[in-house]
Amino acid sequence: MQVEVSRRRFLQGSVAMSIVGGSAVTATNLFANSEHEHSSVPKSITTKTGTGEATEIATLCEMCVNKCAAIARVENGVVTKLNPNPMFPKSKNMLCPRGNAGIQALYDPDRLKYPMIRIGEKGEGKFKRVSWEEAYEAILNGTDKFPGMGKILEEEEDNRSSFLFCAGEGMAEHTFKQFYGAFGSSNWLNHASLCLQTVITGYSLTIGGYAAADLENAEYVIMAGANRAEAIVTPDTMDVFKRTKGRGAKLICVDPRFTNTAAKSDKWLAINPGTDLAFVLALTYVVMTEELYNKEYVEKNFNGFDDYKKSVIGNKYTPEWAEKITGIKAKDIYTIAREFMAHAPKAVYYPGRRSTFANNDFQLRRAMAIFQGLGGGIDTKGGLVFGKKLKLGKHAGLEPLYERAEARAVDKIKHPAKGHAGYSDCAVVSGGGSWIAWRNRFLEGRMPYKVRGMFIYKHNPMMNMPNIAKTAEMLKKMELVVAIDTMPSDTVMYADVVLPEATYLERTDPVKTFGGVEPSIAQRNKVVEPMFETRPVMEIMHGLTEKISKPLWEITKKFDEDVQDEIADSSEAEVFEEFDMTKPFHHSQEEVNEHMVKSVYGEEAVKALKEHGVFYPDMDKYYKKTSVNEHQYYPEKEKHYSVNGGLPKTKSKKVECNLASLAKKGVDPMPVWRDEYNFKVEEGKFRLLTGRHAQFTQSGTSNNAVLRDLIMENYIWINRRVAKKRGIEFGDMVEVSSRTGKTQLKAYPTEKVGPNAVFFVHGFGEESEALTWAYKNGGNDNAVIEDVIEPVYGAASMHETNVEIRKV
Ligand code: SF4
Repeated sequence: MQVEVSRRRFLQGSVAMSIVGGSAVTATNLFANSEHEHSSVPKSITTKTGTGEATEIATLCEMCVNKCAAIARVENGVVTKLNPNPMFPKSKNMLCPRGNAGIQALYDPDRLKYPMIRIGEKGEGKFKRVSWEEAYEAILNGTDKFPGMGKILEEEEDNRSSFLFCAGEGMAEHTFKQFYGAFGSSNWLNHASLCLQTVITGYSLTIGGYAAADLENAEYVIMAGANRAEAIVTPDTMDVFKRTKGRGAKLICVDPRFTNTAAKSDKWLAINPGTDLAFVLALTYVVMTEELYNKEYVEKNFNGFDDYKKSVIGNKYTPEWAEKITGIKAKDIYTIAREFMAHAPKAVYYPGRRSTFANNDFQLRRAMAIFQGLGGGIDTKGGLVFGKKLKLGKHAGLEPLYERAEARAVDKIKHPAKGHAGYSDCAVVSGGGSWIAWRNRFLEGRMPYKVRGMFIYKHNPMMNMPNIAKTAEMLKKMELVVAIDTMPSDTVMYADVVLPEATYLERTDPVKTFGGVEPSIAQRNKVVEPMFETRPVMEIMHGLTEKISKPLWEITKKFDEDVQDEIADSSEAEVFEEFDMTKPFHHSQEEVNEHMVKSVYGEEAVKALKEHGVFYPDMDKYYKKTSVNEHQYYPEKEKHYSVNGGLPKTKSKKVECNLASLAKKGVDPMPVWRDEYNFKVEEGKFRLLTGRHAQFTQSGTSNNAVLRDLIMENYIWINRRVAKKRGIEFGDMVEVSSRTGKTQLKAYPTEKVGPNAVFFVHGFGEESEALTWAYKNGGNDNAVIEDVIEPVYGAASMHETNVEIRKV
């Protein structure tokens, strides 16, 4: 968000307040006429179990991003079992082992239990237990150890952007973001630049959206750099290996490592890290030169096809050229290109859901999306599908414009050369920002103004961002750090004030619409009351804004001339209404959800979400069990394979091959190969590869004792011959080092990785001593990964680091 419009102009636009369903209504009016009955725990089903009476409550899992539906069994106020909820189309009656281990998130003895304030040095992890009131007081007025936000804002003359807000992925991120909006800062960072930034933007700019793959109906699947059998085992993973493979679809796996996905595929192609773009360009070359593409589709639905064809053929991106770069045999590239197009449109180049690996990742995603389009497999059964999204009602938010709030802290180049992006770190600054670029600018004194405080919600930058030494330095330099979390993570150790959040089984989260071929709405219902003194984020924000809203208003009044004029023209009470930060938090989450659902679908939907956790129109008619473990959610003819007439969802409704808008920002308008993308590793070094494992969701589940039983610590994969030469045997301790730092973990010599790369799984090796099970449980990849910034969106390129290894 860039605060570039003056508040006065904003007000003249007559959208000064909360918007509900298109008309201006204040938050307090929201439920004024409703016969709203607030019940914090949803209506439940009572069953008999071997141990006595049990209550079953429908909820949603939060052990990973997938949000599968679960049914929690509660006995005497204790959650004793989590079962899959068969009614949710997205999770199809599945709850994976990690989801089952969610009970431990609730009963983890290490979890944050009380508000705390820092009494030791930054990062030392020494805190004092305080009441909620004392914690809010410390945020507003500080202690002898740190300044409060009142002092900071006073000294920064009401520049609201002197605070950074950041959050990890989660359903309650939305609630926290409302606090950010009401506070009025321009500095927001989320996990996108450490996650899916380049894939989402690459696909969106090329075909109009990050579409899902219809793996249930695809006949041919290329899965490159996506390790679905191992990295995230969700219901659609089961589709790939049970349904898709089970009915004979062909699966090609492209990966530098022999993963479990490779083991289950029809063909594994070991590729040099970071060279997938060359592979896709060569596939495209074959399809173009042999004219295998769907001519009618391309003619009608492509923009810039001739330019791209000229570029691909003119640059001689032949399979023989690609073989030298990728290590994949030319004959395999010819075969795959031909087979893919023979099956198109029921053929999928799987978009993947991983973070950015290489600096060329954005162009790779564009090339993949174009290749998919060449076969016409867009918005169609068996190809990529956009799916339908069910509408939800709106609810009130508050985004006052503070005259003194500076625009987002980016580093603009004063006189950029023609074609240059205009920013010093990357070409485009997206809504979620570039985390590492922001951090580095802060440390290098390249901020346009002072940023002195930060709020962190459900986010662990100490573990999830390359170069943890720099992140620690940033957190130490930040004068006021407020962390809201459930666990005492490495990041929480650097906080000045810690606010303990209730776990997902103790709270109701914002209702969510899940788009797709079989769209639905689902709700995470509170299963048990919050333990200890923890609170859901909605309540945390309610208490905090009650405390700070008025005192901060006094500062605004002092410095904001627009506000002074407004008060002179009307009354202070009237103007304060626009700035009252408590407004978005006047109602409970249950009340807000109910309003959002009832206003569109009526009372029945509210009831369904409380009882079943799931709702979609005609659910009662469509939903039925069809076999022991299979259910119908929508009849075949009602499924939304196509929502755009088989066309891309770009503004032009065409596949965009050649984007002049990118060229204007100094970015290649078409995917091309550049010499600097070549895979290079100096003699004696190795390319460090990282990835995920289905038992762990990054560092978020690292302290889960149940999951730790499955993997106690991570091991580094080293090619067996290399290990032998260096005298490294299984279980030997190895030090991995780069220009950024070092980490230690045990060795796993194997033939599953080539001699020029090593691999270990992400999310291990935390330093927080408050985490009994995660503390130093292996190596931390981000201690070693260098902070390489992907040039288009500023994402962190995770696979651009070469490391040395030595036996300790
Ligand atoms: S895949 Fe597993 S961990 Fe992820 S939401 Fe589903 S059940 Fe939970």
